[in-house]
This record gives sequence, structure tokens and C-alpha cells, in this order.
Amino acid sequence: MRNLLKAAVFKSLYFIDVQGRLRNKKHREGRITTLCLHRISSDNDHFFDPIKPERFEQLIQYVLKHYEVISVDDVHSNPGKKPRLILSFDDGYYDFYSNVLPVIKHYSLPSNHNVVTDIVNGKQGVIWTEKLNFLFNYFVEKKPDDLLQLGGVDYSLKQYQSTLDGFYITILKKLFELEHNDRETVLDAWLTKFNLKIIPKRMMNWAEINECAKHGVTFGSHTKRHCVLTSIKSEAEMGEELVESKAEIEKNMGRKISILAPPNGLCDDAVLKKASLAGYKYVLGIGEHSYMKNMAEGMTFLSRLNLISEPQQDMILRIEELQSNLRKYRPV
Ligand SMILES: [Zn+2]
Repeated sequence: MRNLLKAAVFKSLYFIDVQGRLRNKKHREGRITTLCLHRISSDNDHFFDPIKPERFEQLIQYVLKHYEVISVDDVHSNPGKKPRLILSFDDGYYDFYSNVLPVIKHYSLPSNHNVVTDIVNGKQGVIWTEKLNFLFNYFVEKKPDDLLQLGGVDYSLKQYQSTLDGFYITILKKLFELEHNDRETVLDAWLTKFNLKIIPKRMMNWAEINECAKHGVTFGSHTKRHCVLTSIKSEAEMGEELVESKAEIEKNMGRKISILAPPNGLCDDAVLKKASLAGYKYVLGIGEHSYMKNMAEGMTFLSRLNLISEPQQDMILRIEELQSNLRKYRPV
């Protein structure tokens, strides 16, 4: 019922072009809209559902009509007649090469993609969040009556069976707090417990990444292991994630890179300081609103809007920040 009501309200708002008014407001304020996208694929995944290629094409049509698409390097240039927008992607999945590159090439659109250097070419396995998604998709399908142990707490899967989406977020947030190796150990133990063997998704290799770069894709680092940067305690580990990943990309691409996209958008002042010392000029976060902030030492922080798989009108209203604006007025 709530969903039906929401759909009806969104349809009415879309019909009266609320998105146009919100877009004009952003333009008047000189704000740049930065979109954060992940997988573009026909695959289905309950917890990390890719945006389908047809929906992506609809998104691009909307963007072409209403925005000037710019590259991250152009954020300090003067705005033109249309509001400005950046297309930014994370993770390095192969479906970027197969499903996004042909589209952005066709329309000559600049974009940004941030890769996890240990996972390029599937070198060292899979991103940890993929393990979690795999496990929770199994819970949705098989409904095991079992216990999930984390931090000394036993979570009864039977109890959370009808609220798995919320339970997933609870577990994800608890995993954010762990150090990287502990998080991997916990996830691997869960996969073993449920006798699950994860099939890694294909990631782009360096040849494909270099080909994308020839067509206006500016690459950045999404760290070495998709590490939660705010959970790192050791200087050496932070160096590996920020400095080594940057050097690895530069070695394989033969050019300097200046963009860091902290995994899961998790970033704090300490991370920003380390990023600046490592030579990054742009840090791309994820937030409720799209905004740009000039940091110390000439670094720029861009907050990106995370796009998810959803109906076209909802996606457009999200780009214009209707959902986050409404959230402000939701009774607690
Ligand atoms: Zn990521």
C-alpha cells in the first residue's frame, strides 16, 4: 500500500515537472550533479541489483537533453547554459566495458571510473561486498534456519527472514567497523559455514581499461582491496590502499591519476589528509546531495548521488534530489 501511494505521488510530481524546477534550482546555485553508478547489466541481484542497460540508455537520454556532461578535471571551469553533470562509476566490472563504453563512445561523453587494483583482471578474488551479497542472496533463496555470528552476537536467520533487507544493512554497517583482514575472515567463514563457493564476476583488465581511457574515461583509484578507509589503523595499510593503488594504475596506464573514490563512500578528515599527501586532487564521496567543496592543499571533494536500479521516473527524481529533499520533512 505504501509503495502504491509512493508510486502515485512520484507519478504526479513527475507529471507537473518537479524535476525541471529542482534542476533549475541546482543550476541557479551553480551546483554540479555527480552521479555514482556501479554495474550496468541485465543480471539480477537482490542486494546489489545492476541498472539494466535499457534504463541506463534512458538515463543518458535524460542527461543529454538537460545537462552538459563534464569530466572531473573540468569542475573548476565556468558553467555554460546548461547545468553540469559528471558520470562516475566505481568498482571496475567488465559490464562497464561491454554495456557503458559503446553508449558513452556513441555520444562522446566524458566519464570517470574508479578501479580496485587488486581486483583488476580478477587478480586477487572478489570485492568483499560481493561476498556479503552472495551470502544474503542465498538467505533470500534458501531461507536457512541457522545462526549468523558476528562480534560475539548470534543472529537468528529465522527471526530476520521477513526483514532481510534491513538485516543486511545492519550487518553491512557492523562489517564497516572491522579492519580489512578481520572482515574478510568473517565473510570467508560464513561462506564456508553455508558451503558456498562464490563465482567471481568478470572485471576489466588493463587492456580494456586503457581502451576506455582513449574514449574520455578518466580513471581513478577505488583503493587496492576495496578497503573501508575509515577502519584502517595502520599507516602501512593506508599507504597500500592510497599510494600503492595509485602507483599501480599509473604504471599500467602510463599516466598520472588524480582521483580517489573511497569505497562505500566512507571517508573522514584523516582519510582526506592522507589522500592529499598521496597526491590526489579529487576525492569522490557518496551522499544525499551532490555538492563540491574545496579542501586544504588545493584538493576538491565531490559528493556523488548513488543511483540504484529503480523505475525511470524515480531515478530522474533522485538525480534532481527529490527523495533526499523529502527525507528532510519525514516525521521521525
Ligand atoms: Zn565500490
